[in-house]
Amino acid sequence: MIILIATRNIHKVREFRSMLKPISELDVRSLADFPSYTPLEETGTTFAENAIVKAVHAAQALNLWTLADDSGLVVPALRGAPGIYSARYAGEGASDSDNRRKLLEEMSRLEDEARNGFFECSIALASPQGLEKVTTGVAEGVILAKERGGGGFGYDPLFVKHGYNKTFAELDEMTKNRISHRRKALDKMLPFLESLVAAETPSQYIPKQDEKLTTGL
Ligand code: IMP
Repeated sequence: MIILIATRNIHKVREFRSMLKPISELDVRSLADFPSYTPLEETGTTFAENAIVKAVHAAQALNLWTLADDSGLVVPALRGAPGIYSARYAGEGASDSDNRRKLLEEMSRLEDEARNGFFECSIALASPQGLEKVTTGVAEGVILAKERGGGGFGYDPLFVKHGYNKTFAELDEMTKNRISHRRKALDKMLPFLESLVAAETPSQYIPKQDEKLTTGL
């Protein structure tokens, strides 16, 4: 069964591919396979709203079952910023490092609990007929005053999950994919995806030709 990940963010695609590997029947595609598709603008006011719009629009336009995520970093002491504006916190077209620099500036006078924050991820699953399911996951931690690590993307070099001492950018990919907000949201989606795949796969056992011969069927 083909499943489209409605993003052009190569880091997200990589994480989804790795996390969906256990469902071997899924043929995972991304928007890189559909260069002429133009996604809708993100006009929602929550991660879930944006994920739904992305998934439903792509599923209908490309006639494929589609997963879309909308995610970002939330800092309560900054009244929820960068939040749904995480990808363009430092302005339209800003790079990940521009966004991190802006976050460090905004947080420069914040100490102790005021440096707490969390990543949130909503994932929407849509069929060509419309929305099927939405799930959300969070990863809570602290935002450092200085970047650490060269892996991951976005705000990873600034984020240390509670209970860990490495940033998401210092952790190996497998560890991040086991504890991240995206993993938490996807875990809630997996049973639904598994039942979809099972419904598509014929469950009746068909003996192979040589088995027929030896059993005399
Ligand atoms: P979206 O593509 O509109 O969902 O924007 C997501 C933005 O949130 C990214 O560009 C990153 O800045 C941030 N973000 C989301 N998930 C992560 C993550 O796992 N690590 C670091 N930053 C993330």
